Amino acid sequence: MNHCISTIQTFRQQFFPQITNEQWNSWKWQLQNRPKTPEKLQQYLELTPSELTAFGGHQERLPLGITPYYLALITQSSLRKTMIPQEGELLISPEERIDPLCEEKDSPLPNLVHRYSDRVLFLTTQNCAVYCRYCTRARLVGQGEHRVSRSDWQQNLDYIHQHSEIREVILSGGDALFLDDGSLEFLLQELRKIPHVQIIRLGSKIPVVLPQRVTEDLVQMLRKYHPVYLSLHVLHPDELNEVSKVAISRLVDAGVVIASQTVFLKGVNDRFEIIRELMEKLLFFRIRPYALYQCDLIHGSRHFRTSIQQGIEIIEKLRLHSSGYAVPHYIADPPGGKVTLSPQTIISRDEQGYHLKNWEGKPVFYPDPI
Ligand code: SF4
Repeated sequence: MNHCISTIQTFRQQFFPQITNEQWNSWKWQLQNRPKTPEKLQQYLELTPSELTAFGGHQERLPLGITPYYLALITQSSLRKTMIPQEGELLISPEERIDPLCEEKDSPLPNLVHRYSDRVLFLTTQNCAVYCRYCTRARLVGQGEHRVSRSDWQQNLDYIHQHSEIREVILSGGDALFLDDGSLEFLLQELRKIPHVQIIRLGSKIPVVLPQRVTEDLVQMLRKYHPVYLSLHVLHPDELNEVSKVAISRLVDAGVVIASQTVFLKGVNDRFEIIRELMEKLLFFRIRPYALYQCDLIHGSRHFRTSIQQGIEIIEKLRLHSSGYAVPHYIADPPGGKVTLSPQTIISRDEQGYHLKNWEGKPVFYPDPI
């Protein structure tokens, strides 16, 4: 048996011995039973001194929320750092921003980002199944002041109707699969009424943190609205196991094209062996390894950030040791615009970091972590 599966089973037997298979496999049960406070979390694991300091020092922090399934998976894994705050999160560095991609500047509406002319990012919900400590949209996600309402959806749909240059809509959030089937279908139906919208893409981490959400009903609904793509936020080979494989296979069998998005994180996946295993496993799961991202410059992210040099070395090694299919694009998104990292886009390096050329050929800067 896969070691991840036995870890999950042991956790379940220890903490949820009375729970039936039906309950455990219900995505609503998983969501309802997420620990959302440090006190609740301590019922399942012992917090480290760094984690206790992080919980004690926060006034306004990202919400905590981890599905029991994912909690079982991460307690013994380097993924733990991605869900449970560390002391390093309390340090706000000068290069960090609340809105590191400057999305608000490109938002004609509060929940719509229109940066590139042919596509828009449609924020469908402020909710996620789990909350990642390095989230680029930490300013929006969770139960805080930000709420995405039905009237926001309608305004977004009207905007897309009025802009015939938009051919791709990325339904994200939060997590697009957090929506129930009816709400998601409403959006897909409305988008398919707009003749110039060709591609619909869902942004989600749910297939690997709440695989129970990917039901037969969901995929039967999705297949009516093709072409539907899914950008899967996946970090580590531990997330690809026999349980998530069922969810991913359902999506792929229903014709959803899945491409991966991985954030390169210090102490989590910043080793060649991990990235190689992840990319090769993605291919085996019928997912296209697509993007490896430098961590965005959000508040409290320095303890997560890796150097660009390290990423380039891993990508080069991957080219030598693995199939070309397993080599993702390596991307940084500093203030000023996205850069696909390669010798052609690196202008120079000094002791502060990298001077790069963005997608428009303009200079941008990505600082090296100190
Ligand atoms: S799932 Fe995505 S949107 Fe949600 S907290 Fe994680 S990174 Fe942010």
